[in-house]
Amino acid sequence: MTGAAPVLKVMDTQCPFCSVQCKAVVTERWETGAVRPVYTVEPKLNKASEGRLCIKGMNAYQHSLHRERLTVPMRREGERFVPISWDHALELIGEQFAKLQEQFGRDTVGVYGGGSLTNESAYLLGKFARVALRSKYIDYNGRFCMSAAASAGNKTFGIDRGLTNPLSDIPLAKCIILAGTNIAECQPTLMPYFTRAKENGAFIIAIDPRETGTTRIADLHLKVKPGMDAALANGLQKVLLEEGLLDEAFVQDRTRGFAELKAHLDTLDLEEIAQLTGVSAANIRKAAIAYGKSSTAMVFTARGVEQQTDGYMAVRSFLNMVLMTGQIGKPGSGYGAVTGQGNGQGGREHGQKADQLPGYRLIENPVDRAYIAKVWGIEPEELPGKGVSAYEMMEKVHAQEIRGMLVMGSNPVVSNPNANFVEEGLRKLDFLVVADMFMSETARLADLVIPVTSYMENTGTLTNLEGRVLLREASRPALGESRDDWRILCDIASRLGRGQYFEFDGAEAIFEELRVASQGGIADYYGITYERLRSEEGVYWPCPSQGVANTGRMFEQRFAHADGKAELVPVDNHMPAELTDEAYPLYLTTGRVLSQYLTGVQTRRSHSLAARDVESFVELHPKTAKAYRISDGELVRITSRRGSIVVRGKVKTDIRQDTVFVPMHWGDSQCVNKITNQALDPTCRMPGFKVCAVAIEPLTIK
Ligand code: SF4
Repeated sequence: MTGAAPVLKVMDTQCPFCSVQCKAVVTERWETGAVRPVYTVEPKLNKASEGRLCIKGMNAYQHSLHRERLTVPMRREGERFVPISWDHALELIGEQFAKLQEQFGRDTVGVYGGGSLTNESAYLLGKFARVALRSKYIDYNGRFCMSAAASAGNKTFGIDRGLTNPLSDIPLAKCIILAGTNIAECQPTLMPYFTRAKENGAFIIAIDPRETGTTRIADLHLKVKPGMDAALANGLQKVLLEEGLLDEAFVQDRTRGFAELKAHLDTLDLEEIAQLTGVSAANIRKAAIAYGKSSTAMVFTARGVEQQTDGYMAVRSFLNMVLMTGQIGKPGSGYGAVTGQGNGQGGREHGQKADQLPGYRLIENPVDRAYIAKVWGIEPEELPGKGVSAYEMMEKVHAQEIRGMLVMGSNPVVSNPNANFVEEGLRKLDFLVVADMFMSETARLADLVIPVTSYMENTGTLTNLEGRVLLREASRPALGESRDDWRILCDIASRLGRGQYFEFDGAEAIFEELRVASQGGIADYYGITYERLRSEEGVYWPCPSQGVANTGRMFEQRFAHADGKAELVPVDNHMPAELTDEAYPLYLTTGRVLSQYLTGVQTRRSHSLAARDVESFVELHPKTAKAYRISDGELVRITSRRGSIVVRGKVKTDIRQDTVFVPMHWGDSQCVNKITNQALDPTCRMPGFKVCAVAIEPLTIK
């Protein structure tokens, strides 16, 4: 006898765990009499991932269904959290924020957002800070992700969009430089674009202090000293200049600043650069010649180059070589800042950043202020001024200049550098509200935790690393009493007496306002609608009108500065902000592993992902391990000038002898950011996560 047919629920969704935003279909299958359903996940054909899903995408649904999901608002009572109603939670937030603002001024309440929020949430969070709270203090964790590349792109090209070319251009490149990017672990579904380029004859150069899945496809691996990427790019430019591998017509017609750059490069010495970077002059020469002689070429940078205290100038140094050779604005030639977070691109376009308003407008520009004030129905003078960057907000918290805070979509106590200091500061807050799906390390410090919907339960747009705007629609009902970010923000605004500016009935209504707010700005979404996104499977920005079909390739004729030219700039051979010495003789660098995303709050609750990497580790070279009498698998204490952590040693030849590596995904005693350096890039305010000085010792007494 055959039983009844199983009940199937088929859900179209999009993986939240990186900037590719691969599409997936999750099927929930209930067999007759079963006590729980079985889930299967299939990749769905889409233009970015070409129908691929990595292990994170295959298992992302698990965290969304996890039993630790927060389902009701929770208020702190001593060391415990107790459930309360939404009405009570909203009333408390309204009362506490209003009381603090009355007593200490409007700027005493700050907002901290995230690069995984949808465009609609990011937009509304920026508006919430400026219009509901009327506070200047808002910034977000994307400051730690994209700020160096974004600032460099804006200054060099006049616009910041992660990739200047569509992904489909990658296989057309005859030389590819992968600088400080571990695509194989961070954006795995992109790897076939690079392997296809290699099959087509591309020469691939990787720049990284470690061997990774990404460097293993390279023809040449430059194992640079941590923090010396800008100098290495200077060396590459010097060789291009010496060898006459410039596109003089391009330099003449489409750039400015070459004379100053050339004069600077003439003063540099290649042997000195080899000493500084730990890469031989012969290999620098080989890489530069391969790049300069190729008919098409692409350069990609990511956090390895950017998370430095000179990250902004380091990116500009790589952009110099792109421009000197004219390798941009054509099929197979261009530049890409490989975004990490799910909405790392869109998250930085709509006003979450301290200095920005929607559409990438500037908060200090009177014309931009007047435009956005009009869209929001307020007077320009009502808009607050420029705030400070994410880590600097934490300094304000520590100094009790900020006494109340809303954290949405972020876990700052694990993701900020010098995390012990950050935790001390957050504990001093008079009222901390954390909106999250789980009791994260930051939520544990909160006075009030409010539950939000997961990626499968809310609707919104995300902009992938190519600048392609994608619509992700809700495919499951909200779990318990969890609510969408937009609804929470509208409800709090209402409790603050500003509800008239937040009358939205869903994500699409917010997107409609976002379109208008972005119109005429750098990131112009005006021509994009939900209807269009449904029928076209994503639309590239800039998209000023509905008739426009953007190819995704930028700068074919001109750059975005008023004169149409890109800017070259001399870059010094900066040293890291913290150098090794007798007490702290090794460099520490940080990064990611394949199975985890950001601070692991979600991926550690996807059981298949959690099982792959159950704890953090320190990767160290066998000679380093021997020198410090550390065995593979042994617990190691790592100490910097800011504190200590204990993680398990992993002895591998993959890494430089003077460097150790710890991933960034774990909190508490394994939180590597307890020891990273809080020094900031002077331009973009990016912390120098990628290099600090440490000492190591085995925990076992020998
Ligand atoms: Fe795609 Fe990135 Fe998700 Fe992997 S983590 S499935 S590459 S979106």
